[in-house]
Amino acid sequence: MRYRHTFIPTLRHDPAEAEVVSHKLLVRAGMIRQVARGIYDFLPLGLRVVRKVEAIVREELNRAGAQEILMPAVCPAELWQESGRWEQYGKELLRIKDRHDREFCIGPTHEEIVTDIVRREIRSYRDLPLNLYQIQTKFRDEVRPRFGLMRGREFIMKDAYSFHTDLADCQREYQNMFDAYRRIFDRCGLMYRPVEADTGSIGGTLSHEFQVLAESGEDAIVSCHKCQYAANVEKAELSLSSAQPPVLSPQALTKVHTPDQRTIDEVATFLGEAPNRFIKTLVYVTDTGTVVAALIRGDQELSEAKLKTALGCQWVALADEATVVKATNAPIGFAGPIGIKATVLSDWSLRGGAHLICGANERDYHLTGLDLGREVSALTFADLRQARAGDPCPRCPDGTFTAHRGIEVGQTFYLGTKYSKALGATYQDAQGQDHLIEMGCYGIGITRTVAAAIEQNHDANGIQWPLALAPATVTIIPVNSNDETMRQAAENLYTTLLAAGVEVMLDDRDERPGVKFKDADLIGIPLRVTIGPKSLARGMVELKRRTETQSTEVTLDAAAATLVSLSRGEAVL
Ligand code: ATP
Ligand code: MG
Repeated sequence: MRYRHTFIPTLRHDPAEAEVVSHKLLVRAGMIRQVARGIYDFLPLGLRVVRKVEAIVREELNRAGAQEILMPAVCPAELWQESGRWEQYGKELLRIKDRHDREFCIGPTHEEIVTDIVRREIRSYRDLPLNLYQIQTKFRDEVRPRFGLMRGREFIMKDAYSFHTDLADCQREYQNMFDAYRRIFDRCGLMYRPVEADTGSIGGTLSHEFQVLAESGEDAIVSCHKCQYAANVEKAELSLSSAQPPVLSPQALTKVHTPDQRTIDEVATFLGEAPNRFIKTLVYVTDTGTVVAALIRGDQELSEAKLKTALGCQWVALADEATVVKATNAPIGFAGPIGIKATVLSDWSLRGGAHLICGANERDYHLTGLDLGREVSALTFADLRQARAGDPCPRCPDGTFTAHRGIEVGQTFYLGTKYSKALGATYQDAQGQDHLIEMGCYGIGITRTVAAAIEQNHDANGIQWPLALAPATVTIIPVNSNDETMRQAAENLYTTLLAAGVEVMLDDRDERPGVKFKDADLIGIPLRVTIGPKSLARGMVELKRRTETQSTEVTLDAAAATLVSLSRGEAVL
């Protein structure tokens, strides 16, 4: 690659709309440009990185025995209606009509399409197992597209789907894919953790997310400091023994005036009480239209995933103001469990709780001295809250949770027969009996992985690509491209490295050295060779890693061999 002939429109300043470092740097390094909210152009260097991730994913999936196919981006509504997701998926599904007024969607995921292939083509147990994958552009009309490639609307995903005669074979393949995912993210050079996860709108019962650890991650995860257990806070199991409140002498239930005090913090300050004395009453509606009041302690956060699981419903959403007013006879901010017109469900941590404070279901009033067991009969308890640092581990005797932030770059799901049942995908066993096919599915966000790599690997000057993902491995910088000796030395090294199969960029621009160094740092190529007048006069060149500040001198003659082994990760500087 010659810099002069490569389209790299770098910028000196951060784009105004970018909030996270990967978005800023991808734009500044001339790798992507925004076309519309959450929709991007990939310019030459950005596309090279995307292709690197794709190549690793493809190699490892092929190695694991999966077969690549390509399904359509435009998917007929009928298949989505068969699975029931045409109604369930909500506004994230981009629905379109063709000239004949037939309905389609732009695929956000492809369970329906792939199950349709299988139900048409697979007849016998002899045709199974089967694992089909594709690398394709997806569209999800996200409510809040943001953070550049981290949460786009149009993005590239690898999605794989596996088909089996029975649960045991599906579990074997789940483990096979899990191992392939580990190899993929290891090869990408990323620090990550697989964690137990909720199954979201994909469905199924067993799932892991692969989380790249980074402060800017949208996901909160916890891991035990003693054992291997790690999970998304939305999903992490909590041990019930941690939920025992102290036994307190009874207090009288008292109605107190709390004018305009709505949030836990406001009322806590107003009454001079700690947030953990409060019951937070959150009003939700479910897919079946049930109104639910979910109770958790004032200092804790609700997990919608756990609420959904506890209710056994498809989705839950916070109720709108009108629903809250109807259920509580009061504006938002005064809801409580006593007298509320809703199905009440409480988190375990409130069981046996006394001396509690909650909304009175009346404008400007709260109740104090509440004893949940005394005041609310036949209350149902469930695990509803998000895990957090310090919670005891449910899997080992004295481990506790540590909290991390993560970027979900991949997710694996055991689906069971959810889709094969809905679409009628069956096989015949040796006795000619029909059975539903067991399924698993496995996604990787290719473009999100590119962003995650930057979130984890950058400094104030730019990107620090891991070797395996870099748009080029080596950049050669002749300090003065107009000096014939320097130019010739650079050209020779360039040709030698190309011939050795090293991906190399030659900065042949007629620019000041400072500009070349700045751009090299911004673009983040892992190895830099500087050819300067003084060292070259002694037959030497300077090698530097993007991640180091010190450079090392090597002879011009030895430079190519050293760079070849460095680029293979075989040598250290
Ligand atoms: P999230 O919870 O972040 O919205 P998801 O769980 O809905 O993602 P999956 O259905 O598991 O996503 O999709 C598989 C992979 O596709 C994810 O692990 C992620 O890496 C990627 N992905 C999902 N949504 C987006 C998006 N809006 N932009 C970029 N990548 C995405
Ligand atoms: Mg996911």
